[in-house]
Amino acid sequence: MTIKCKKCSTPSIIYQPYSGLHLCEKHFYEDLERKAKLTLRQRYPIKKNDVIAVALSGGKDSSVALLLMHKIFGNRPDIRIVAITIDEGIAGYRDESIARAKELTERLGVEHIVKSFRDEYGKTMDDITSEKKLLENHFGDDKKELGACSYCGVLRKKILNVVARDIGATKLVIGHNLDDEAQTVMLNHFRGDVERMVRFSAASELDGFIVRVKPLRKVPEKEIALYAYLHDLPMELTSCPHSFGALRKEVRRMLNGFEVNHPGTKYSLVRGFDNMVPLLAAGLEVSDIRNCEICGEPCNDSICQACKMLEKSI
Ligand code: SF4
Ligand code: ZN
Repeated sequence: MTIKCKKCSTPSIIYQPYSGLHLCEKHFYEDLERKAKLTLRQRYPIKKNDVIAVALSGGKDSSVALLLMHKIFGNRPDIRIVAITIDEGIAGYRDESIARAKELTERLGVEHIVKSFRDEYGKTMDDITSEKKLLENHFGDDKKELGACSYCGVLRKKILNVVARDIGATKLVIGHNLDDEAQTVMLNHFRGDVERMVRFSAASELDGFIVRVKPLRKVPEKEIALYAYLHDLPMELTSCPHSFGALRKEVRRMLNGFEVNHPGTKYSLVRGFDNMVPLLAAGLEVSDIRNCEICGEPCNDSICQACKMLEKSI
């Protein structure tokens, strides 16, 4: 027997255990797009004359984020959308995803900027991983050794922020989904890093930092994958050889297990965190924003994390 959509009589294509709804293709699209629009309205309202930069890796999440921004704001003459792709220099992986990103921006007619680690830092991610013995993230005070993704993330964020600022962007869209957000909340709890938790959630403008907007933070990863597939988005499916740290993998497995047994766990985790942040922020002195003594970029120390990492990886 075909299961019907809860909102119409068309056959269902997806079941959402956390909402108890079976949805057809049309109502699934509506549901996902409504969640993204609501997140934008509540947390990151898009204003007149905004310049929206979208961090586009060529993977499913950022491709869906770009498609949605284009769908929602593409017809607004006052709003400019620009996709930014960072080439970290990861052989056998990045070239493919950059090709997919190009395909998508051409299909949508969106401006596209590509910047590379090699041009900006004089070395690729592959160079950094071979120069340095990178360890997986771990607990404890000795945080000197970090995993590949920590380097990659910090160095990528820096270029994204610089490029977004250079083009006059007022928003920087990131494709993080509900699974990413829930994992990050959990990881910060495990590390006991309260300041990082507050900074992680900052949706406000800080000097020199472009506001990071996450329209998909309430949408489960599986639904984004289905949405991308149904829209036939060009996207890269192979995974990065340096891959995620072992700790995040463990947290991901644990949360997926909870989600099966207790649907809605990931959402509750993120919602609980959102409610907690204003209370944490009130009782915490978040370090002032200063300018890095080496590169001049905004940071909360005398030398920014990217410069510290590049020093260390030489
Ligand atoms: Fe960079 Fe890690 Fe992503 Fe690979 S998996 S691209 S190393 S952040
Ligand atoms: Zn329907």
